[in-house]
Amino acid sequence: MSCLFCKILNKEISADFVYEDEKVAAFLDINPVKPGHVLVLPKIHVEQLHDLDDEYILPVMQVIKKTMKALLAQENVDGINIGQNNYTAAGQVVPHVHFHVIPRKTGDGHRHWPGTAYGQGEAAEIAEKIKKGIE
Ligand code: AMP
Ligand code: ZN
Repeated sequence: MSCLFCKILNKEISADFVYEDEKVAAFLDINPVKPGHVLVLPKIHVEQLHDLDDEYILPVMQVIKKTMKALLAQENVDGINIGQNNYTAAGQVVPHVHFHVIPRKTGDGHRHWPGTAYGQGEAAEIAEKIKKGIE
């Protein structure tokens, strides 16, 4: 298995773990957006979130919640961003499902991506297409 995160989970490559149980692990991102940036991931090799078996969804979310609480208990943490990238088009670099849990501080200067308003009638049309695709 050549997956970097599988190697970390198997302890072939070291990482700064903050949590681990039967199904889920969490360790520090090596190149944090902010110090304390944690990656939470299932202990099964699945590349994208929509392919992750439902039995992992709740355990992963529970560890995200635990991590958030631990970060919010730290000094200088006023907020948290959760990020999750799927496919290279969306910025995914490591093809093993993982959530970014990023501590934020008021006025820390981190900018969100910009939004663009819909044109007349565009939102309803797009919503209809998505609605049809949701099973
Ligand atoms: P993504 O772009 O969502 O696939 O994010 C991959 C993340 O993995 C990036 O934020 C990297 O900084 C992080 N990363 C890469 N290599 C390591 C490593 N050896 N240990 C911990 N985090 C890593
Ligand atoms: Zn993997």
